[in-house]
Amino acid sequence: MPISAELLDEIRAVVGEAQLRCGEAVATLDPGWNPDNLRAGIFVSPVSTAEVAAVMRLCHRHCVPVVPQGGRTGLVGGGVSQPGEIILGLGRLTRIERLDPVERVAVVEAGVTLQALQEAAADHELEPGIDLAARGTATIGGMVSTNAGGVMAFRNGVMRHRVLGLEAVLPDGRVFCDLTRVLKTSAGYDLKHLFIGAEGTLGIVTRVAVRLDPVAGASATALVGVPDAASAQRIVRHFLASTSARLTAAEILWRNFASLMQRALNYAPGSLPLDAPCLLVLGLGADSMEAARGVLEDGLAAIWDEAAIVDGLVASSDAQAAAMWRLREETEQIERAHPMAPSFDVSVPGGALDAYVARIEAGLKQFDASYAPYVYGHLADGNLHISINCEGPVSHDRHAAIEDVLYEGLRKTDNSFSAEHGVGLEKREAYERHADPVKQELAKAIKALMDPANVMNPGKVVG
Ligand SMILES: Cc1cc2nc3c(=O)[nH]c(=O)nc-3n(C[C@H](O)[C@H](O)[C@H](O)COP(=O)(O)OP(=O)(O)OC[C@H]3O[C@@H](n4cnc5c(N)ncnc54)[C@H](O)[C@@H]3O)c2cc1C
Repeated sequence: MPISAELLDEIRAVVGEAQLRCGEAVATLDPGWNPDNLRAGIFVSPVSTAEVAAVMRLCHRHCVPVVPQGGRTGLVGGGVSQPGEIILGLGRLTRIERLDPVERVAVVEAGVTLQALQEAAADHELEPGIDLAARGTATIGGMVSTNAGGVMAFRNGVMRHRVLGLEAVLPDGRVFCDLTRVLKTSAGYDLKHLFIGAEGTLGIVTRVAVRLDPVAGASATALVGVPDAASAQRIVRHFLASTSARLTAAEILWRNFASLMQRALNYAPGSLPLDAPCLLVLGLGADSMEAARGVLEDGLAAIWDEAAIVDGLVASSDAQAAAMWRLREETEQIERAHPMAPSFDVSVPGGALDAYVARIEAGLKQFDASYAPYVYGHLADGNLHISINCEGPVSHDRHAAIEDVLYEGLRKTDNSFSAEHGVGLEKREAYERHADPVKQELAKAIKALMDPANVMNPGKVVG
């Protein structure tokens, strides 16, 4: 149903003429990681919780669905919108309201980017304890809503573990406020967790209290060639036991992915140790750069034979470290080489990584002899990202067949078909097939209770 002029006038009166964009004015915005994010064609940019609440009250009264958006870096279509809906952009809620080095807590508005929070915390030698490649664009509100993970999750947990409190506007415009800044609060149901990972289906996160940790004085990077994930895990165990430095990242790249990245980024042969079945990017923090590099060099030398290391290099400059990280982080190269290729995000038991990758490589090849997946991810917590080397989108049946190969056994071993990206639109079918049926019933009941008019991001996660 088209949005009535009356509702648009009422919203304009709340946010001001310039903050309600329609049609052409929306088309000039960057749609982000999903070309359908802006399809609704109406984009509202409130600047405060009060304005978000007022807009939600109006949309609720008119029964008009609202799609919240932060940085639009989500990878499962959670921010996709369609005509008849209104996009609520949180990008103007950018205040860091409080950053207390004694409490080690930041209270930020939802539209603050991860990088902005990292930089503000760094001024106090602190960090939010979470990091991901989309840091410059992804917002804290979006990361809460997808329960983002990233490279430090093995050490610090995912977004859920970094949130002490939050404020959210409910579908009818009421404001849920639990902005507690303390770790321990056992005062009844901890309802803030309903909004974490809800992908905007239960309310709009407007403010968040985030835990901060001391940041290491300096960090060093190494790129290590190994025969398999088991070898990489031996190296990780070694550095986790270090008392003089802190392992901050352990990312793994299987050869097919590493080769694609090497080609796409024009790496000169021999510029980095790239010729191994798997590559491991290690990040290590210590008091000084010298100390961090020293621990990496000594540690790799000590474990070289035991871990059957093929090759390895500790970055000797920031530029070399950045080149190592580009290999892992510039994943848009996959999209460039294989537009709309199907991609997946699974959690696998740590001890089963090599067997899992061998099984899916064989299974996919059996299904289609041209398939050789790109596999990479967060080694230390078993979260693998997998993209298929084909042009997409593939047919529904083909997608289902690929999922059968990738997801087989994950439920039985209590692992996950969606590790850190969420369900959104794209993993809806997988959710229905693989999530526990009782969990699905409860989720639907919670959605019906909190959003009986179904105006909050309808069609996502639970339908
Ligand atoms: C290059 C790249 C690397 C990435 N790496 C990682 C990684 O390592 N780990 C990881 O976990 N993820 C990763 N991601 C994906 C990750 O989901 C997003 O980066 C981030 O969590 C979403 O933040 P956003 O502000 O862009 O949200 P959006 O994309 O705008 O929205 C995501 C979802 O949250 C909802 N939403 C957004 N803001 C709010 C709000 N304030 N209140 C309620 N709902 C809201 C939307 O409706 C949507 O469902 C990566 C993405 C990219 C592009």
